[in-house]
Amino acid sequence: MGYASCILHPYLQVLNLRRDVKPARPHVGHGWTAFVLAVGLWGMGVPVPRPPVAGTDRWTQRTWVVMGTYLTVRVRHPDSAYAERILDGVIDLVQDLDRRLTLYDPSSELWALNRQAGGPPLPVSEPLWDLLERALAYSRETQGAFDVTIGPIVQTWGFLEGPRRVPSDEAIARARARVGYTKVELDSSRRTVRLTTPGMVLDFGGIAKGYALDRAVELLRQAGLRDALLNFGGEIYAMGTPDGGDRPWTLAVRHPRRPDRVWRELPVRDMAVSTSGDYERFFFQGGRRYSHILSPWTGRPVETDVVSVTVVAPSATEADALSTALFVMGPERAQALVGADRCRYVLWIRQQGRHLIEDPRSVWPPRPCPSQGSRPSRTPKPNNPSSDIRPQ
Ligand code: ADP
Ligand code: MG
Repeated sequence: MGYASCILHPYLQVLNLRRDVKPARPHVGHGWTAFVLAVGLWGMGVPVPRPPVAGTDRWTQRTWVVMGTYLTVRVRHPDSAYAERILDGVIDLVQDLDRRLTLYDPSSELWALNRQAGGPPLPVSEPLWDLLERALAYSRETQGAFDVTIGPIVQTWGFLEGPRRVPSDEAIARARARVGYTKVELDSSRRTVRLTTPGMVLDFGGIAKGYALDRAVELLRQAGLRDALLNFGGEIYAMGTPDGGDRPWTLAVRHPRRPDRVWRELPVRDMAVSTSGDYERFFFQGGRRYSHILSPWTGRPVETDVVSVTVVAPSATEADALSTALFVMGPERAQALVGADRCRYVLWIRQQGRHLIEDPRSVWPPRPCPSQGSRPSRTPKPNNPSSDIRPQ
């Protein structure tokens, strides 16, 4: 799974190690400055400093290394001991997801499912089922630009375990034959999954962090928290407001080539922000740059003049999956998927000669959306998913 991207980002790595890992012990405070220093310069969204409002501002923050990157959660609650307990629950939840979904541990649930490819259906846990259903729904919506079965292609290019290199055309063709979201069969009555083709590999690297954020937000809400900021390797969820008042969080989209610069600020409240770009994880070979976002159609890294695509949406799962998909699709093809009416905002930054420009098809700036919670309802869909997911 593409978990390690942010650690491998050269700029983020330095800042993370210096500023974010060390204060892993609980940090409880009133000031904004410490927070901005600790969190503010990493990830694609960076908080812009604002003075705290007196008396309303008790924050508890923790940072963990999980899913190969950094998760920082900052919550506002007057009782910091209570907040600590809730944060314990958050990390338990995310670590549980990590254990299930990792491609780096042969004892993970995902490993077992992938090993079963080509064989009979396998019963899966509720979170794996839930996430897989969502992932397949985004595949259908994006006509396969987002494809959770991308694993064999990711492996062939060495993005999973290395070495990263350009594979032969034959190797790409072999990998592509094992990729395709329609090769996943779900049986909702038994909650079983069948991967119909031997050698298939599900890879949740393009969606798992977003999903984990949504589940964490759900837990925070259940615990009665309203205001929080969650940053998971650059995937952000901004819950409530920074001071319990009316002003939204102000994040910033970084300049893709100049990480010390802000490209644009964005106000967000109860929304998620996700960026996919050509500069997060890549390698060079023969003077060319190959990025870790792969086209399921060609089996190759996406070739595009899109430098980054930032998606703002009510759910982090959606923002994460869509930012990956939109990067594959490009602004022309992706237009139907976004729009203020659907509460999906997008900022396209493209390379034009030596300059970076914003594509006019950007839907920006984000506006407050009708409150719809952190994630869509988890009630079962009326139709049986297996009926519209068939092997090719
Ligand atoms: P990051 O992990 O850096 O935040 P993304 O969310 O865009 O970036 O996810 C990239 C990861 O998603 C890759 O490392 C790979 O594991 C997986 N991936 C790559 N291409 C696709 C694709 N077309 N559809 C689904 N997942 C993909
Ligand atoms: Mg993504």
